[in-house]
Amino acid sequence: MIVTVASFKGGQAKTTTAIHLAALLNAHKPTLLVDGDPNRSATSWNRRKGFPFKVVDEKQAVRFSREFEHIVIDTQARPTEEDLRELAAGCDVLIVPLTPDAMSLDTLFLLTDTLKKGNAEAKLKILLTIVPPKPSRDGEEVLATLAEAKLPTFKTVIRRYKAFQKAALEGVLVNEIDSPYAEEAWSDYVNVSKELLS
Ligand code: ADP
Repeated sequence: MIVTVASFKGGQAKTTTAIHLAALLNAHKPTLLVDGDPNRSATSWNRRKGFPFKVVDEKQAVRFSREFEHIVIDTQARPTEEDLRELAAGCDVLIVPLTPDAMSLDTLFLLTDTLKKGNAEAKLKILLTIVPPKPSRDGEEVLATLAEAKLPTFKTVIRRYKAFQKAALEGVLVNEIDSPYAEEAWSDYVNVSKELLS
């Protein structure tokens, strides 16, 4: 399975999603994480402690891809429309992480229009990320808007936990963080990986 993670806007948890899904898919079958983001966030995250899966940049991807069952691609932030259509064409699932705020929704609609024009929307699956806890209803409201627009979403949403920021700083996965919420935070991505593999 080739899973591409892309977004039109920074700060949507694109790299966090790519890394955690690569770890979870790797627990199932050998998985390669391709760091296609020129910021190389995944690569520098990996350099600190080292992940239990292989991370390469896109230039090395072709050489390694045959050895792996699953490939997760963290893409360049803000791809052009053409890039996005090509990314969609080259994968099985295109995950678009989305934070529940109006500006992110606007960029999401730009992205889905682009996919529709290229007949590539079938692979799209939106993942709500950094969802604030109750009493905020931001997550539910955005899910309702997406359902109204008939856009495909994961049932699981990724809740907002400081543990994710700590994990990025320490260069580890969120389940390795010393926090009472680390397991809950990890379980959100566990549930996304189950949806992916089902
Ligand atoms: P992108 O690749 O879309 O720019 P990142 O994965 O780098 O996004 O995440 C942006 C910031 O949000 C980082 O500081 C990251 O640690 C933080 N973050 C990601 N997911 C969550 C979450 N579920 N809860 C809280 N903070 C998060």
